[in-house]
Amino acid sequence: MRRLGLFIATCLLAACQNQKTEQDAPVAEKDVAWSNVAYGSKEQRHSPLDQINESNVSDLGIAWFKDLPDARGQEATPVMVDGKLFITTAWSKVFAYDAKTGKELWSYDPEVDGSKAIDACCDVVNRGVAISRGRLFFGTLDGRLIALDANTGARLWASQTTDNSKPYTITGAPRIVKNMVVIGNGGAEFGVRGYVSAYNIADGSLKWRFYTVPNPEGKPDGAASDEIFAKAANKTWSDGAWKESGGGGTVWDSIVYDEELDQLYFGVGNGNPWNHGLRSGGEGDNLFLSSIVAVNPDTGKYLWHYQETPAETWDYTATQSIIIAEIDWPVSGGSDAEGKEGEEAESEKTALTKRRKVLFHAPKNGFFFVIDRTNGRLLSAEPFVENINWAEGYDLKTGRPIENPAARFYKTGEPFIAIPGALGAHNWHPMSYNPGTGLVYIPAQQVPQGYEVPSSEVDKSRGRQGFNVGVAWSIAQLPDDKEVYKAAIASTTGQLVAFDPKAGKVAWSVDYPAAWNGGTMTTAGNLVFQGTSLGLFKAYAADSGEELLSMDVQSGVVAAPSTYMIDGVQYIAFLTSKGGAFPLTAGVAGGASRQIPNIPRLIVMKLGGKTSLPALPQQNEIVWDPPEPTGTPAQVAEGKALYGRYCLVCHGDSAIGNGFTPDLRISATLADAETWSSIVSGGALKDRGMVGFSQLTPAQVESLRHYVIERSHWTKENVVDVTAPVAR
Ligand code: CA
Repeated sequence: MRRLGLFIATCLLAACQNQKTEQDAPVAEKDVAWSNVAYGSKEQRHSPLDQINESNVSDLGIAWFKDLPDARGQEATPVMVDGKLFITTAWSKVFAYDAKTGKELWSYDPEVDGSKAIDACCDVVNRGVAISRGRLFFGTLDGRLIALDANTGARLWASQTTDNSKPYTITGAPRIVKNMVVIGNGGAEFGVRGYVSAYNIADGSLKWRFYTVPNPEGKPDGAASDEIFAKAANKTWSDGAWKESGGGGTVWDSIVYDEELDQLYFGVGNGNPWNHGLRSGGEGDNLFLSSIVAVNPDTGKYLWHYQETPAETWDYTATQSIIIAEIDWPVSGGSDAEGKEGEEAESEKTALTKRRKVLFHAPKNGFFFVIDRTNGRLLSAEPFVENINWAEGYDLKTGRPIENPAARFYKTGEPFIAIPGALGAHNWHPMSYNPGTGLVYIPAQQVPQGYEVPSSEVDKSRGRQGFNVGVAWSIAQLPDDKEVYKAAIASTTGQLVAFDPKAGKVAWSVDYPAAWNGGTMTTAGNLVFQGTSLGLFKAYAADSGEELLSMDVQSGVVAAPSTYMIDGVQYIAFLTSKGGAFPLTAGVAGGASRQIPNIPRLIVMKLGGKTSLPALPQQNEIVWDPPEPTGTPAQVAEGKALYGRYCLVCHGDSAIGNGFTPDLRISATLADAETWSSIVSGGALKDRGMVGFSQLTPAQVESLRHYVIERSHWTKENVVDVTAPVAR
């Protein structure tokens, strides 16, 4: 018995060691995993590894690399568990490699139908896998949640989580929560009703579902969300287009399980249509759009929420990275400091600071939020970028923004150029938090956008295809005046922002000439890593922001890196490629980054790595040979409106091209109205994602052709500097 007791005690000790939190993990010769897309359960994207550090990071070189199959956006963070490195790629494909040697172990292609691309607002991307006990879980663009054997790639089960008669997609990574796999979905630009679902990890059966917006028929769903909607959320909606569109509120990225408090948090997206005046008659906060919601992980029942942008109308999603932290906080700060009495208030007054369980959030709307995660109360909301013009700040007592009345374009009837715009001051690109420096590293950007109530029938029309957001696209499109055009592109920039949540201000920042730079990762080596849209992989001192490494990696980078240790060697892994919402919809990608190649590739680095990347493929020079412009001004104008409504989402603003969907301005089909029509309305290329827009009349299809011909001539004559050298 004595021996057995000792055995149990030893096991318990070992178990305890294994369960140490990520910040406590010993950094010795043993292997160190990167166990979910955001490192560990706190999702800080901070590794305790310090073999690579500020004194030697300049010696980083490539250990191995793998080219990937599809030249579309690669947004996944590599996950390393048990010596295997797992990634997802464009079109929801999964690859497993030996994390040390790069040998491919297996791959899995869920064979998503190419025509599904039309339902993806923001490219056919996927942000990664979840791993639990030898099993791998991922979502597919067509809404399946699939479980594989992580050792062999054999399929264990698959569950269809969405209705494919509607434009739902999945691009986010699932999360493991106890004995469940939790997944959300996307589609709020087109018109769906958002929800989060928990599936049984063993067989993929549904355990609970939480809808983020009301049932359009006003009846219960038999879902975990029924109670809170009946009690509080339904009455924050008024009559409007949401009843037909589904209302939006998709949970397309951040889902975080708080092990300490046994709470599940998720970030909710924008409304559909965006225009609150159309969506809900301009009335009501529209819960739970643009909110962080906390639920009981076992039941999915509501615990608390914080709505960052009440009555959302600018596509200000709250889906961005949620980071769990614990920090010292002044006792007087925050909306919960009021009204406390007796012992609790007394004890708080005796200390200057109090240890608080918080979460950090830097959503599209440009403010950095510190929220008490025990109850959802707002502690701080301060700008992490400059020039925000939709609100001047937040009232900490009410937790609500102090808005600029001009920003509500549907109330004033006047157009409004919002900063940030719909692409956000911070989009999905993951941020990271270093408990050592106390700083949060945000891939931020300046991408203004105009909003206006739609007046044309084209913009007012609604249907499954194209953006269904209830705003006029004409104001959002690039201007025709060459100088204004160039100024608009030049004003679209990026930043790495190191934000101090305690001080509520930026500690340091780095300016980039282009927006849409990669996610960040930070380590105990006092380092922050980030790839840029201009094809550089950078490392900075985490405390000071001093640049320590700037390596040419050939391709733009949007994804975030991860790091792990095997056999005493620390590796850094990341995906290259351009892609995602910004180049797809804006196309210009900040002007300069248009010239940076788009190469889908996994790169793994280590100190002293000596592997070279292959020579760059020859880039074809653009040959400007458009057909004669024969369209009437009326046809070109109609084509412009139609283009904004149906084409911009994939082919870029003003047909400018984006480097990975076809550049229509140089398309041979421009000269051939019949072929053009067979593709645009006939769907001849539907297997490649270009479904037919059969709702367009032959005259409209022809107007589109004339508009693109006009754009081709305009670009040829005006934008002479598209091949000028890039300053990066
Ligand atoms: Ca959106």
